Amino acid sequence: MAHLVTLIAGDGIGPEVAEATRRVLDATGVEIEWVLEDAGAAVLEREGTPLPDRVLEQIRRSRVAIKGPITTPVGGGFRSVNVALRHELDLFAAVRPSRSIPGVPTPHPGVDLVVIRENTEDLYRGVEYERGSPEAAALRAELRRLAGYTAREDAGFTVKPISVSGTRRIVRFALEFVRANGRRKVTLGHKSNIMRFSDGLFLSIGRSESEDHRDVWFEDMEIDQLSMRLTREPEAFDVLLLPNLYGDILSDLCAGLVGGLGLAAGANLGWEYAVFEPVHGSAPDIAGRGVANPVAMIRSGAMLLRHLGEHGAADVVESAVDRVLAAGEVRTPDLGGTSSTDEVAAGVAKDLQVPGPSG
Ligand code: NAD
Repeated sequence: MAHLVTLIAGDGIGPEVAEATRRVLDATGVEIEWVLEDAGAAVLEREGTPLPDRVLEQIRRSRVAIKGPITTPVGGGFRSVNVALRHELDLFAAVRPSRSIPGVPTPHPGVDLVVIRENTEDLYRGVEYERGSPEAAALRAELRRLAGYTAREDAGFTVKPISVSGTRRIVRFALEFVRANGRRKVTLGHKSNIMRFSDGLFLSIGRSESEDHRDVWFEDMEIDQLSMRLTREPEAFDVLLLPNLYGDILSDLCAGLVGGLGLAAGANLGWEYAVFEPVHGSAPDIAGRGVANPVAMIRSGAMLLRHLGEHGAADVVESAVDRVLAAGEVRTPDLGGTSSTDEVAAGVAKDLQVPGPSG
């Protein structure tokens, strides 16, 4: 039976890299019934919301989706569609691997990292009060009463909730991920000396849960020190476990260590649903020119195949991408090449070494 998968092309370069990904996944021979849905800027213009309910319903039906990037207008009235999807579907774990690939220039040839980011809490929870609003005034009064702190009248607020239950599930997820994927170590990043009751809680739950997983090497590190060490000795790290904001920032840093955003794949996972997407955004600076690197989304597609239990096909896609990048003849401009998005997709699809019926 074909796998039912929702495909959301997204904004900017989204449709270009989504088409490339579909082409490669179809070429593996895995039967996928694609259900196409729209979300983002074009839908907002047409329907007044960037994330219509039917898109969520369709993902709930198929349980699995892959999406291109979606533009979040800066300072607009709408919440990020990406953040809304993660909250609505309770996709609490973002998994973002970064690995050096032979042939892709990097000062760090031995990097093999996975960022595991808590996806539903922290400063991305969306609890915000605009400066000058009645809610901000009420919060100022409450803060004066509770903390003796008088915030400036022109202050806006973003709240940072981190809970025991929310932390426990992501810590357990990360520790189990290490076990299931033959990895060796978790490094938890935090700033608990400054944010004692949010990051401090994340740290203490991490430490106590690690006691129940003594076979997994667990360490913790302040986020500033971790950032510095990642740029100097990224090979020393394995799985990074991070609250939402630090996870967002460090996954771009890790992508930069191994060749840039054009290569970085990701998954958003919950107990019930899974949404795969590249780490990069809609890249308005290159949209519509046919030069976006599709590898990040193709690799997200390989993660999707693995999630569907199609491990052989996932391996086939990953090794074809590695071979094409290592050969160096077909590459988009972000990697120093001159090829188009379509040429890279065609190169990967052609290189797939799909075992025959007897293979
Ligand atoms: P971006 O990732 O879109 O672009 C940053 C830089 O990387 C740009 O120079 C871009 O050209 C380049 N780049 C990104 N992807 C590339 C690819 N596949 N191939 C070649 N070059 C690539 O980040 P941004 O400009 O900060 O964000 C643009 C929009 O995307 C914003 O509205 C942002 O909110 C949104 N965004 C969405 C997601 C998502 O949908 N998950 C993630 C990040 C950003």
